[in-house]
Amino acid sequence: MRIANDVASLRHACAQAGTVAFVPTMGNLHEGHLSLVRLAKRQAEFVVVSIFVNRLQFLPGEDFDRYPRTFERDCRMLEAEGVRLVFAPDETVLYPQPQTYRVAPAPMAEELEGRFRPGFFTGVCTVVLKLLNCVQPTVAVFGKKDYQQLVLIQGMVRQLDLPVRILPGETVREADGLAMSSRNGYLSAAERAEGPRLHRTLRAVADGKLTSEAAVADLSRHGWQPDYVEIRRRGDLAPAGNEDQERVVLAAARLGTTRLIDSLEF
Ligand code: AMP
Repeated sequence: MRIANDVASLRHACAQAGTVAFVPTMGNLHEGHLSLVRLAKRQAEFVVVSIFVNRLQFLPGEDFDRYPRTFERDCRMLEAEGVRLVFAPDETVLYPQPQTYRVAPAPMAEELEGRFRPGFFTGVCTVVLKLLNCVQPTVAVFGKKDYQQLVLIQGMVRQLDLPVRILPGETVREADGLAMSSRNGYLSAAERAEGPRLHRTLRAVADGKLTSEAAVADLSRHGWQPDYVEIRRRGDLAPAGNEDQERVVLAAARLGTTRLIDSLEF
C-alpha cells in the first residue's frame, strides 16, 4: 500500500491503475468505513482512501482540534483490506492558499444539518469536489450514515456533470444499534449506554409508533438535546407525505457535549 501526501504523487500512483474506486474519510477508521472500502473493492481492484480532516466543514467552536487523528492505526487497517493507496494531504497541500472559491450547494443544504451547522455542506461539497478532482475515480463510495451529505453529493455530481458514479453504503451499527461514528469515542460510559436510544427512536418513527414530534419529546425526556427528527423523501429530502413510498427519517441530537446523527430508510 502506497501513501501519497501530495497531488503529483497521487496522480503518478493512479496513472496505471485503470478503474479507481475511492472512499473519502476523515480517518479514525471503524467498521463503517471498512464496509465502504469493501464495497469499493468490489467495484475496482485499485481502491484509494483519503484521510483528511477538513477544517472547512467545522464551525468555530466545533471539534476540529480534538477530532481523533489515528493515522498509523488507520493505515494498518486499510492495508489489511487490500487498499492500494492512501491519499493523506496535509492542509498546505489541499489548501495552499485560502479556499475562496467554494461550492454553493442546493438550498436543501440549509435544512436539517444545515440549520444547525451553517456552512457545513459548503465545506463538505468543496472538499469532496477537490478530492474527486485530485483522485479522478470511476466510482466513489459514501455512507448513508451521513444521509443528507450523500444526497447533496449525488446532486452536485449530477448538476455539475462530474464524471464519477456515486455508490451509497449502508450504515454499520454496533450490536446494540448505535451507528458507528468516530464521535462515539467522546461518549462517557453512561452516555454510551444511552446512545442506542437514538436508533430505537428512529425505528419507532419508521414503524409509525411515534410521530417525529413525540420522538423529539421522548429523547428530551431521556436527557438528550435533540436538534431535529424529521421524515423526508429519500431521493431529494423534500418534506414527505404519507403518500410517499420511499421515505427516510433523519435525526440529530446531543448527548452531553457529543452530537450524534442517525437516519433510517423506510
Ligand atoms: P467520516 O470519516 O466521518 O467523514 O466518514 C467517511 C465516510 O464514511 C462517509 O461517507 C460516511 O458516511 C461513512 N460512514 C461513517 N460512519 C459510517 C457507518 N457507521 N456506516 C457506514 N458508513 C459510515
